[in-house]
Amino acid sequence: MSAETSQRRARIGIMGGTFDPIHNGHLVAASEAQQQFDLDEVVFVPTGKPWMKSTVTAGEHRYLMTVIATAANPGFNVSRVDLEREGSTYTIDTLRDMRKAYPDADLFFITGADAMAQIMEWKDVSEVWTLAHFIAVSRPGHPLTISGLPTQGVSSLEVPALAISSTDCRTRVSQGFPVWYLVPDGVVQYIAKHHLYRSMP
Ligand code: ATP
Repeated sequence: MSAETSQRRARIGIMGGTFDPIHNGHLVAASEAQQQFDLDEVVFVPTGKPWMKSTVTAGEHRYLMTVIATAANPGFNVSRVDLEREGSTYTIDTLRDMRKAYPDADLFFITGADAMAQIMEWKDVSEVWTLAHFIAVSRPGHPLTISGLPTQGVSSLEVPALAISSTDCRTRVSQGFPVWYLVPDGVVQYIAKHHLYRSMP
């Protein structure tokens, strides 16, 4: 192994989300960031109780759908840190826990344009920048702007446009429309088997 290779720090992507359910928009964004930023691994982190959403499906269902959706990619993993922490989920806590889990790695937090637009409202935002580099990915219907944010800490990334949201997937299931090819096949099967999203909350 060359000296250059042995000194390279691991590069870990973090894809936080409610994943209610995980869909192909999440997976394409993570895959594109993985390739463009030379990430060794992308860790999907399903939220516990998100501070900005009132009703979500049980964490165990969301976790298992995320495991199923990411299983085929050896560079994708799923973490339970947010599910196991008490109280509402804040990104600052996710990042602190991931820093503990990967003390010597460079961390890259992947987030959609919609979430990025609200980042200044996040808890402890000034510390958030110190813990990870942010990759703001494009999302149909949401302008991708990083002006006003620390230029050292944020990169923008155009990803293939998939106009898919978890809200639309839940609505489609509740109305009897298919979600095949919007979410991975195994997630379609999991939703059917566990009767998820039959009625909208
Ligand atoms: P909901 O409709 O329930 O609000 P969602 O589809 O926005 O859910 P989340 O789990 O809240 O999904 O999203 C997790 C992360 O993935 C966020 O940073 C979000 O911006 C990003 N994201 C979600 N869908 C897409 C998409 N189609 N393209 C790019 N990024 C996306």
